[in-house]
Amino acid sequence: MNSTLRLHNTLTRQLEPFVPLHPPRVTFYMCGPTVWNYAHVGNFRTFLLGDVLRRYLAYTGHDVCMIMNITDVDDRIIRMAGEAGTGVRTFTDRFTQAFYEDRDFLRIGPADVYTRATDYIPAMIDLVAALLDRGIAYRGDDGSVYFAIGRFPTYGRLSRVDTRELKAGARVQSDEYAKEDVQDFALWKSASAADEAVGAAWDAPFGRGRPGWHLECSAMALTEIRSRFGVATLDLHAGGKDLVFPHHENEIAQSEGATGATFARCWVHGEFLTIAGTKMSKRFGNTLTVRDLREEGVHPAAFRMLAFSTHYRQSLNYNDDALHAATEGMRRLGAFRDRLAGVAGQLPAGRQPPEAAALEREFRDAMDEDLGTPKALGVLFGFVRDVNRALDQGAWDAATAAAALAVFDAIADVLDILPGETTVADDLAAWVEERIAARQAARQARAFAKADAIRKEITDRGIELEDTPQGTRWKRKA
Ligand SMILES: [Zn+2]
Repeated sequence: MNSTLRLHNTLTRQLEPFVPLHPPRVTFYMCGPTVWNYAHVGNFRTFLLGDVLRRYLAYTGHDVCMIMNITDVDDRIIRMAGEAGTGVRTFTDRFTQAFYEDRDFLRIGPADVYTRATDYIPAMIDLVAALLDRGIAYRGDDGSVYFAIGRFPTYGRLSRVDTRELKAGARVQSDEYAKEDVQDFALWKSASAADEAVGAAWDAPFGRGRPGWHLECSAMALTEIRSRFGVATLDLHAGGKDLVFPHHENEIAQSEGATGATFARCWVHGEFLTIAGTKMSKRFGNTLTVRDLREEGVHPAAFRMLAFSTHYRQSLNYNDDALHAATEGMRRLGAFRDRLAGVAGQLPAGRQPPEAAALEREFRDAMDEDLGTPKALGVLFGFVRDVNRALDQGAWDAATAAAALAVFDAIADVLDILPGETTVADDLAAWVEERIAARQAARQARAFAKADAIRKEITDRGIELEDTPQGTRWKRKA
């Protein structure tokens, strides 16, 4: 299939045709959770944007490699691990696990690789060294290394932040700061006693310390796309709108400052979710988590439907009425699918009815226009209405129904909004089983390097392996 997708690129503030560097491959990096707590539903709205974007790219024939980081060291984590009297790795383990569980509950397909920041420290050190070599970074008198934004002429291009009034030598240590405070930022922070206490300090040629948050994503993204595909440019980079400045601005500066290549061709940013004034916000406050949804009996497909009923660049108001409507809509789609499948029976698909061809075309038209999920849902419900009418009239035979069902299922799978069981967990299990068998074959052939590589591939997806005399067992990482 030819891609006709147009996306709003934050770099240009315009809708642009999405053209990957080497089609059909798409390298897609999405900023993942900072695992200091349970991620809230607003974070998951952003992850759902990544999920539907990735699924739609796959539906239109792309070969997507999705990379998502797990930030397990930053200012906040160090502070909280210190308060808990534990190391950063131990402190973040349970929230990492919780993130995987919440992801599965919401039927978000696992990324191809999850990169935990503390596993990429050598790559971060190399990146800082490269920036020092190029004279774009410097050592401060506090022992930390800073990025000199004055030495990177295109700084501010993504966020359009005003750099004209920059005070020479002004610099910021903390990971998070506002647009008003645009200045040189820390790449590498010299180790403090608090860092040492939680195991968040590493040796580097430019001094013992730890990475700044922004540096982590640049190093992880570049490491993965270089080692997998030999490129230094991402096709797609996404995250929440709050990450545009300073996080993504700084990711661009660090990456392009070191490689000289465009870091990401297209930047996609999702708007926020508000939950003010709902029954749930009264009970849980303004930080509603996916755990809370589960406790309240919210159906994951209904939550997805609710998320997709508002365009990703508009603020989503999560309220009881909207959730109720989404739940009703989900049930209607489920009942329709049951009816269509009942007519289709077990017969092979026959000729496609015009309704199915129209569904396919209109769904693509809606999604091609900057992932127009609200319009796509409208198309889907229009199809339900038309086909129900045809079925009422007894106008369709089983083969026609089977042909329409195949189209309907493929489209419903992009959004994954049917009440039935999700396929994601099954897909993952099948994949793990297949990889374990491949690893076993490699070991029997004494190809141990290959077996190790497969093992890493499996563990990168959050799976733990245990070799027993009875064979290899696996489970989600704790
Ligand atoms: Zn990031």
